[in-house]
Amino acid sequence: MRALVAGLAAGSLLLAGCTWGSDDPSPAPHGSPTSHGSLDAALSTPVEDRVYPQVGDPGVDALHYGLDLTWSPDSSTLDAVETLVLRATSDAPTFQLDLEHALAVSSVTVDGRDAAYDHEGKDLVVRTPVTADHRYTVVLHYAGTPNPVAAPTTRSDFSTLGWTITHKGEVWTMQEPFGAYSWYAVNDQPSDKALYDFTISAPSPMVGIANGTLESRHDEGDRTVTRWHLAEPASSYLTTIAIGDFRETRDRSASGVPVTYWTPRDRPALVDRLRPAADELGWIEDRLGPYPFSSLGVVVVDSRSGMETQTMITLGSTAYDTSPEVLLHEMVHQWYGDEVTPADWRDVWMSEGMALYLQGLWQAEHDHLPVRALMARWARAEPQMRRESGPPADYDPATFGAGNVYYGPALMWDQLRRRLGDERFWAVVRAWPKAHEDANASYDDLTDFWSERTGTDLHPFFDSWLLGATSPSFP
Ligand SMILES: [Zn+2]
Repeated sequence: MRALVAGLAAGSLLLAGCTWGSDDPSPAPHGSPTSHGSLDAALSTPVEDRVYPQVGDPGVDALHYGLDLTWSPDSSTLDAVETLVLRATSDAPTFQLDLEHALAVSSVTVDGRDAAYDHEGKDLVVRTPVTADHRYTVVLHYAGTPNPVAAPTTRSDFSTLGWTITHKGEVWTMQEPFGAYSWYAVNDQPSDKALYDFTISAPSPMVGIANGTLESRHDEGDRTVTRWHLAEPASSYLTTIAIGDFRETRDRSASGVPVTYWTPRDRPALVDRLRPAADELGWIEDRLGPYPFSSLGVVVVDSRSGMETQTMITLGSTAYDTSPEVLLHEMVHQWYGDEVTPADWRDVWMSEGMALYLQGLWQAEHDHLPVRALMARWARAEPQMRRESGPPADYDPATFGAGNVYYGPALMWDQLRRRLGDERFWAVVRAWPKAHEDANASYDDLTDFWSERTGTDLHPFFDSWLLGATSPSFP
C-alpha cells in the first residue's frame, strides 16, 4: 500500500501513509484443478494472526480458488460460483471460511456431496469432518450485494475494505489487511497463499479485470466475459477485481516483462501517467533482481489509495496515486510483499519499509537530493509516528498502515546499508525474496537470515528499530 504521509518524501516531500487435484472424479469446471500435483506450489503453513485473529482459520490451507463472478450493476448483485480446493491442516469435525453475511449462500458441496453449514456474521462453518493433509473440493453458490468491511485504520485515504461499488455501478477492490471475504469465501489471512482462476461476466462495455494474465475475452449476448489465470500463489489481500469501461494498452519492460495498463475509457490522458512503469521496472530490477512474476498490469480505479495487488497493481485515479513514485512503490512490493509475504500482520513493516526505502532512493535520485538529506528529514518525523501508533512490529491494531510501519523500517534499512556497505547490503536485499519465493516469512526468519548472511548478530539492531518504544538514534 502506498505511504500516506505525502510530503515527507523527496522534492515535493511526501508526508504520510504512504501509499487444484481434487478427490472429486466429476468433470472439472473452468479453472478447476485437474491434478493434485499442480497445486503443490500453493501449500502453506497458515497461522493464527496475532494482530487480527478474528479473520482466517489456521485449520484451512486453501490451494486454489476458481471464482466465477457475474456482476449485474442495475441491481448491484453479485452471483457467484466458487470452486475451492483446500487442504485440511488437522483432523477436525468442521472447517471455517470467511464470507460477508450480505452474501447469501444457497448451496455448499464437499467432494460433490451436499454439506451442512452455518453462516453467522462473516463465519461460514462447513459441517463436514476433515482429515489432516487430505484435500477437498468445496463448491459454493452465493449471491447478494457485497458490503465493504470497516478498515482497522486511522488513514485518510480509505475507511472500508473489499468490494466497492461506484455511482456508475462499476466495481473495485482493495483489501489490506482483510476484506476479500466481502466478495468470496476465503481463508482471509496473509499466511495462506493460493492459486486463482477468475471468470468475470459484466454487461458490455464493462470488462472485468483480475490478477494474472488475461486468458480470454469474448461477448455473450450483451455481456463481456473475461478469464484470468494467476500462475503464482497469492495471499488473499493481494487479489483484485475491477469491473468498468476500461481501455487496454500494452507495453513491455526492457527486460521483456509484458506490461498492461487498464485505464478508464473516458480519461485517455491517464495512460500517459502510467507509462513510466516500464522504465521504473528496470530501475528496480537493477537493485532487486529479475521481476518475480510472468506479467505486470496496472488498473486505475475510482479510489484514493494504491495497492500492490499481485501482478495487477490497483491505483486510485488521483494525481498522487498515479504518480511515478507511487507506481514505483507498488512495483517494489511485487518482490517485498507479494513474492515474499509476511506470515503475520505484525510484520507488515517487512513490506512497507523496503517499498518506502526504494521509493525514497528513487526520488532522491530524480530530485538530485542527497539520500542523507532525505533520510534526515524522515528521521525528524519518525519518532512521533512511533509514539502515536507504536513500534513498527508491535503496533496498535486500530492504526493499520500508519506511518510507523513505513518510515522507521526505511530508516533502519538505510542505516544498515551504510553499516554494511552497498555491495553486501544489496546482495542480501536481493537474496531475501528469492530465498522465499511464493512463500511467507516471519520476523525471526528475516532477522536470522540477515545475521547468517552477514556473519553478524543483527538481532539487537533489528529489535531496537522494530520493537523499541523509542526511536534509535539516526546518525
Ligand atoms: Zn506500500
